[in-house]
Amino acid sequence: MPVPIYVIGSSNTDLVVKTERLPKPGETVLGGTFLMNPGGKGANQAVTAARLGSHVTFVAKVGSDIFGKQAMQQFQRENIGTTFITTDTEHPSGVALIGVDASGQNNIIVAPGANSHLDIRIVEQALERVEGAAIVLLQLEIPIHIVEFAIERCAAKGLTVILNPAPVQALHEQVLRHLHIITPNEFEAGMLTGIEVVDVTTAEQAAQKLQALGVANVVITLGAKGAYLRSGTKGKLIAAPPVTAVDTTAAGDCFNGALAVALSEGVALEEAVTFACKAASISVTRMGAQSSIPYRKEVNEISL
Ligand code: ADP
Repeated sequence: MPVPIYVIGSSNTDLVVKTERLPKPGETVLGGTFLMNPGGKGANQAVTAARLGSHVTFVAKVGSDIFGKQAMQQFQRENIGTTFITTDTEHPSGVALIGVDASGQNNIIVAPGANSHLDIRIVEQALERVEGAAIVLLQLEIPIHIVEFAIERCAAKGLTVILNPAPVQALHEQVLRHLHIITPNEFEAGMLTGIEVVDVTTAEQAAQKLQALGVANVVITLGAKGAYLRSGTKGKLIAAPPVTAVDTTAAGDCFNGALAVALSEGVALEEAVTFACKAASISVTRMGAQSSIPYRKEVNEISL
């Protein structure tokens, strides 16, 4: 039986305007198409895990506004457990204001809103309810002290924790010791270790450093190259299936959600990373965040 997945993290609504060129400070430009997309790293990862067939509970906070209501409806449509999603009556839902120019360059401002006020007691209640094994997936778009609290609680209960350290922030070594896997991208791995990750050799060095800090297993995502896995004393590049990428938004989120799903089904780490690379490679061939996330059948159809 697959074990359940708990995602503790952020929910945002992406408000996207496409424009010929991005405005300079103080300038107003007339934009083109406006799009409103559900996003937020936590929500994207929860949606991925649900679409790939897991039993997912999402622990989050939304505002009591239209964005929060739409997000809740979206989670319910995706069969995500919403018992531990609370509504903030004081702070608005998280939003990201995104401008995208004709060449695909973007400017993003995130107003975290309710995400910054996720209630530590809700996290505690959600983790208390876990009976037996579970995989807990975390990112860093909610207050860091809540992430650290959750990791400590998971360690005490013997739950498997995956931390996607994005957006990157300094982490206590004490916390790193409790992680089963950390999943930085190249940039985040560089920020966490001081080693600029540009290829397999530097990925190996950064992964070794993270292990020396106490993390059991390290998976550094390397964009189109795939992901570098270091487990025990062995390191290995797992190649991503070659695809034509059109939009890499949420590729990392798709990767993390898929990694959690494979592990929840009891497969070995290397096979789980391969599965995550397959899922994420599909997501980059489609536009958007949650709209780009594949279903299980599509991932199963890819052969490497
Ligand atoms: P992030 O989105 O967090 O910056 P990456 O860019 O490293 O993370 O992408 C995460 C994963 O998505 C990669 O490990 C890979 O499996 C997949 N991926 C990203 N870009 C491509 C691409 N151009 N072709 C195939 N797979 C990709």
